[in-house]
Amino acid sequence: LHTPKRVVIVGSGTAGVIAAGLIKEHYKDRVDITVVYDKLNESIGVGEGTLPSFSDVLEKLKIPVREFIKNVNATIKLGINFKNWIPETEYFHAFYLKRDTERLRIKLDNNLYTSHANWELGSRFEIKSILGHTPGYGVPSSLLEREQFKSSYGYHMDGVLCSRYIRSCLKDKITFIEDEVISVNSDGENIKNICLKERGNISADYYIDCSGFAKLLFRKLNRIEWKDVTDILPINRAIIQQIKTEEDAEILNYTSSEATTEGWIWQIPVNNNRYGSGYLYCSEFTSDEEARISYNKWLIENHDKTLTSSKIIKFSSGYYVNFCLNNCTAIGLASGFFEPLEATSIASTINQVNFLLKHDIISCNTSCNRKLANEENKKMQQGIIDFLDLHYFTSRTDSNFWKYITNSKADSIQKYKEKCNLDLLNSSILDNKEVFATLESYIAISKGLNLFDKANVRKSLYQYPPTHVFQMKTNADIAERCLQSLKSQEISHKLFLANI
Ligand SMILES: Cc1cc2nc3c(=O)[nH]c(=O)nc-3n(C[C@H](O)[C@H](O)[C@H](O)COP(=O)(O)OP(=O)(O)OC[C@H]3O[C@@H](n4cnc5c(N)ncnc54)[C@H](O)[C@@H]3O)c2cc1C
Repeated sequence: LHTPKRVVIVGSGTAGVIAAGLIKEHYKDRVDITVVYDKLNESIGVGEGTLPSFSDVLEKLKIPVREFIKNVNATIKLGINFKNWIPETEYFHAFYLKRDTERLRIKLDNNLYTSHANWELGSRFEIKSILGHTPGYGVPSSLLEREQFKSSYGYHMDGVLCSRYIRSCLKDKITFIEDEVISVNSDGENIKNICLKERGNISADYYIDCSGFAKLLFRKLNRIEWKDVTDILPINRAIIQQIKTEEDAEILNYTSSEATTEGWIWQIPVNNNRYGSGYLYCSEFTSDEEARISYNKWLIENHDKTLTSSKIIKFSSGYYVNFCLNNCTAIGLASGFFEPLEATSIASTINQVNFLLKHDIISCNTSCNRKLANEENKKMQQGIIDFLDLHYFTSRTDSNFWKYITNSKADSIQKYKEKCNLDLLNSSILDNKEVFATLESYIAISKGLNLFDKANVRKSLYQYPPTHVFQMKTNADIAERCLQSLKSQEISHKLFLANI
């Protein structure tokens, strides 16, 4: 019989509880996990939109979807609506169904052929039109737990309630300690122990830094290498505000991302009569006071509310090149962060835990395994950076911020456009590397930002054999009919959540 590996996780925000839960599920009795967190500062409290991969976590932790929705005030997220990234325009980035669905009887596989169909046939073929992203439409209740449907929705939720609820689901398997870490003892290579304010020293075989922006463990190690990407993603400030909505207001099933002259604003519907919202900008171009004034104006115009919050979160886009170092790994915000444009952070946290498990770092912590996990993490981070960068391939020049963006990306935009229009038929615009975002996502953003030459795409589409083109159109017709039939079965998102 092996003695279980002792794992200490510092932090019980979303990253800490996801790491604790997935590691315990994977190793069962072979690990003994202790999570330490500061009760006065449970979690950052933002991070309210997820990607569909969050469903995998619930499944692995055996948390019923409906219980989760009820306990964390969740709403269903079918995608993101981008507004004014090109002034006066909007586009929708939907989560796509990636597999055959028995219900919808359409083959929506993840290849260029389908992407062409998506593009050419337009919104008729997009999942948003199948499920309806219009206010008032929800998700057909019967599809919620269907395996095939899980890849096509995420959640909006209360970030604080999320980590609290998952903690409560794990409390019989994992030790949670409410105490403050006052110092971390390391020889530069390894973490030796952690000193808690009340309990004194605790030690472990393996340490996980989920302490958020504090990076309590990782910054005690030598040889940490930070990759700064602020030249590509310069936004570094967020003013956070919760916006109350009327009791009887409908609940949207998508996140809104609206570009402004200084950056952009997010709005996430949470199921207790509020939006989580925030104003993002770059301190190089906009002072906090200027941002406050602009956000206040937006709140008045859009919600008839004034800015009441004084909470500003400061961050800097970048990540640790090696997130696994000797006996410690950094996960979640402690390992890096890029601005929240596509809600990639929790999804990348899930991937990081999966890299740890895949390469068996906790039970077989060799330099070779660490190298493999670090390589995967690096690839993922670069995939996220490339994908977020794409969202800024816009022609806005209405402020110094946008002038900087447009000028600094001019070459990349030009090259990308050429690639889109030359290569669309035979190879992927991603160079066949779907590292984080799928080709469908690239198509949706590129189309929304007018990066494709329409005539060229059409020409390349019709190079397919006529039978294929016919099939695409037939698929779209089937999608349209399914849409009509699903809509007739749908109830409003609000009612759906109330009845869950
Ligand atoms: C403006 C903004 C918007 C975001 N929006 C999204 C989004 O829509 N979707 C998304 O996926 N992600 C989003 N994120 C990222 C998201 O917030 C994080 O991925 C997520 O909340 C996980 O955070 P965490 O657990 O790493 O850190 P935190 O939530 O900060 O948790 C840190 C933990 O460390 C503990 N801790 C810290 N210091 C000590 C100490 N001295 N002693 C003991 N414990 C300590 C705290 O108690 C806490 O439990 C956003 C981030 C920002 C900044």
